[in-house]
Amino acid sequence: MDLELTAEQREIQSLARAFADAEIAPNAAEWDRAHGFPREVLAKLAELGLLGVCVPEEYGGAGADFLSYILVLEELSRGDAGVGVTVAVHTSACTLPILQFGTDEQRRRFVPPLARGEGIGCFALTEPGAGSDAGALVTRATRADGGWRIEGAKQWITNAAFGGTMLLFARTDPETQTARGVSAFIVDTEDVTITRTEEKLGLNSSVTNDIAVDSVVADDRMIGELNHGFRIAMSTLDGGRIGIAAQAVGIAQAAYEVALRYAKEREAFGQRIADFQAIQHKLANMSMEIDAARLLVLRAATLKDRGLPHTEAGAKAKLFASEMARRQTAEAIQVLGGYGYTKEFPVERYYRDAKITEIYEGTSEIQRLVIAREILGRT
Ligand SMILES: Cc1cc2nc3c(=O)[nH]c(=O)nc-3n(C[C@H](O)[C@H](O)[C@H](O)COP(=O)(O)OP(=O)(O)OC[C@H]3O[C@@H](n4cnc5c(N)ncnc54)[C@H](O)[C@@H]3O)c2cc1C
Repeated sequence: MDLELTAEQREIQSLARAFADAEIAPNAAEWDRAHGFPREVLAKLAELGLLGVCVPEEYGGAGADFLSYILVLEELSRGDAGVGVTVAVHTSACTLPILQFGTDEQRRRFVPPLARGEGIGCFALTEPGAGSDAGALVTRATRADGGWRIEGAKQWITNAAFGGTMLLFARTDPETQTARGVSAFIVDTEDVTITRTEEKLGLNSSVTNDIAVDSVVADDRMIGELNHGFRIAMSTLDGGRIGIAAQAVGIAQAAYEVALRYAKEREAFGQRIADFQAIQHKLANMSMEIDAARLLVLRAATLKDRGLPHTEAGAKAKLFASEMARRQTAEAIQVLGGYGYTKEFPVERYYRDAKITEIYEGTSEIQRLVIAREILGRT
């Protein structure tokens, strides 16, 4: 497989890198403390076309491929993982499934405002009693005059408070309590109530909300076929996981860069700590594992761009990259010693941010399950 980036992909990568270096990374520590970044950041990202990178131009996007979008996510996450996940959920968990599964009318109505950043996208699957076992969700949609009454509660919904469009999953067949009988709806966030803003270990600049919903939506808000919404959710996560893997690579890359710089400057026992073999081995392992994770991400994104199956490749990329990021951000702290544990340097934040990549869009245990299912299905 040819993994050489095209000139256009490199250009988009440079654009995202320059923006992350100038406008994101210098503010990330402050946004971590403040538990949020200014909405203006999203406006600037929209201006650069980075809120709809892989959305076709006819729907208001930049018209680039999925791999370009993945490169953007790595760069934004290298600057701040909270900004990274905001863009990831907005794009691959909301905009892209509407493009893929929506009718032409739905695409024309809902995608351009998302691609232009006029509204921010979110994805509402998880509930207090349904996380990994998302098919057990109990939010229900029942027939009402002119559409569907949706009633229930969703938990840990990234971006809900920004306001915009929500892809929401609800049970439309009360006879089944499994993944069958779930449908997908496009809901305006003004039709849901934010009930809580979550306090988290890391990823503090991103917003994570619990929501309650009791609203009637019109018939044309259902996306895909009745009772077939779970397939949309799973397909969305197949692509979304590649984005989370890229986020993990970006966080690890940021930690590696700080550790490398520090190792060349810090002295102990009359020499640079970079001259100790123990530290060299840590840097070598970091560099190798980041490369390996990035290659898995590039492969999975390339398969998706070519319209080839990418469930297994995406799960492998997410599993390896997320565990790598947790391991290597911890190693970065070790290279910095006591300074690494303090807020004088960003590596403690990278460590806190990396942990979530092992949990959302499918935990590591679920990724192993997905990979095993794919392997066994082939034999
Ligand atoms: C910051 C943050 C943002 C999020 N954003 C969103 C969002 O935007 N939209 C959304 O819908 N959700 C979101 N989530 C929810 C996230 O996707 C879930 O937390 C995740 O899927 C795991 O579900 P759970 O937390 O209920 O864990 P559980 O499913 O309760 O799992 C608990 C433990 O059991 C393990 N386990 C469960 N089932 C199995 C099994 N079959 N085999 C082996 N082990 C198993 C898990 O791996 C885990 O270790 C977010 C969560 C967080 C923390």
